[in-house]
Amino acid sequence: MRPLEQLTRPNVWRLKPYASARDEYNGADATVFLDANENPYNVPHNRYPDPLQREVKRILAPIKRLPVESIFLGNGSDEAIDLLMRAFCCPAVDNVVAIDPTYGMYQVCAEVNDVAYRKVPLEEDFSFRADKLLAAADEHTKLIFLCSPNNPTGNDLSRPEIERLIERFEGLVVLDEAYNDFSEAPSFLSELPRYPNLVVLQTFSKAWGCAAIRLGMAFASPDIIAILNKIKYPYNVNELTQRQAMEMLHRHYEIAQWVGTLKEERSRLGAELAKLPCTVKLFPSDANFFLVRVTDAVRIYRYLVGKGIIVRNRHNVTLCGNCLRITVGTRPENEQLLEALRQYDA
Ligand code: PMP
Repeated sequence: MRPLEQLTRPNVWRLKPYASARDEYNGADATVFLDANENPYNVPHNRYPDPLQREVKRILAPIKRLPVESIFLGNGSDEAIDLLMRAFCCPAVDNVVAIDPTYGMYQVCAEVNDVAYRKVPLEEDFSFRADKLLAAADEHTKLIFLCSPNNPTGNDLSRPEIERLIERFEGLVVLDEAYNDFSEAPSFLSELPRYPNLVVLQTFSKAWGCAAIRLGMAFASPDIIAILNKIKYPYNVNELTQRQAMEMLHRHYEIAQWVGTLKEERSRLGAELAKLPCTVKLFPSDANFFLVRVTDAVRIYRYLVGKGIIVRNRHNVTLCGNCLRITVGTRPENEQLLEALRQYDA
């Protein structure tokens, strides 16, 4: 890995971050807060939240088996994606490399920041080859984005290939594990101490059932996390979100139950989708959704909308011609979808 100072944008490396009132206050016993120009009324919404979300991280750290200093929390993992782009990539100079197809926000964040986005197509079976990504990279490539299980294809990426990429690439590898809870593949979190150039993204939006609260996680070396903390908005995770996250973390056994149920539903839904006359190919899934090639994706998408059922049309996405992406819902929701598709007249 190149030294972090060489990978970071020079202006960010030099930046003296904004210090909020609550950054300076270190949590020592205090009862009178006259430091942040807040309104003393309207408890509990009147106070600024902890800028570093220390309570949430204190509960999260043992669950993830990582030190607090290796955890960044943001307004969805989308915030972490954007901050990585802004921290490491000089606009109009640097570039990032990513597999294609994959989650659309990597490209959007790159383009917003005027960072060239280099797509490397997956193989026909949706696997990826580390060598192809490395061949697309040059001295201006700061980040390589991987997503496993990948959205929208649903498959885990090969672990040895991911390791190969991390070992050979001199910049940072960002591995998005938004859907890892639904996969049998172990997370890469335990590998972080071995790989100083690895950033793992996870989210409260999927298995944790908290898409509404907007809470994403980035895990990396304390040096990388410190750079993200330096450039984030001071109060990027609001108080209501921090409280709800703590409540969810205390109930983490329930999440395991949801995941178990959703995996059972995934098997059932997959078996039924495969039998439908309109299904051309059902791709295996390690996530909480299926990619399905159908006879006519645009027509079936519109047909389902007419029945009040919304799926994602991926027809125009690389390698996904005539494909729909279908989230695993509750048993009655999945049944409603299947019944509609059984009635569909090709
Ligand atoms: N990564 C992937 C692969 C996703 O599919 C999504 C949401 N669809 C996200 C990240 C965004 O997560 P968040 O809600 O935490 O911003």
